[in-house]
Amino acid sequence: MRVVVDPDTCAVTGGCVFHAPEVFRLGDDGMLHLLREFPDESLRAAVQKAADYCPTGAISIED
Ligand code: SF4
Repeated sequence: MRVVVDPDTCAVTGGCVFHAPEVFRLGDDGMLHLLREFPDESLRAAVQKAADYCPTGAISIED
């Protein structure tokens, strides 16, 4: 599983950080940071939820 965030689409709402803090983090620079581009399968449900609830559809999951 590969996680991709489109920085041009992300509105930095922080929703994904709430659902999957192991993968996403809001930086001090006010930008969203991807902590793990290739998260473990055990995080798939959390990452999927983050993608599903992202208000701008910025998160993609590639298998
Ligand atoms: S939920 Fe979507 S819009 Fe919000 S910070 Fe995450 S990727 Fe960006």
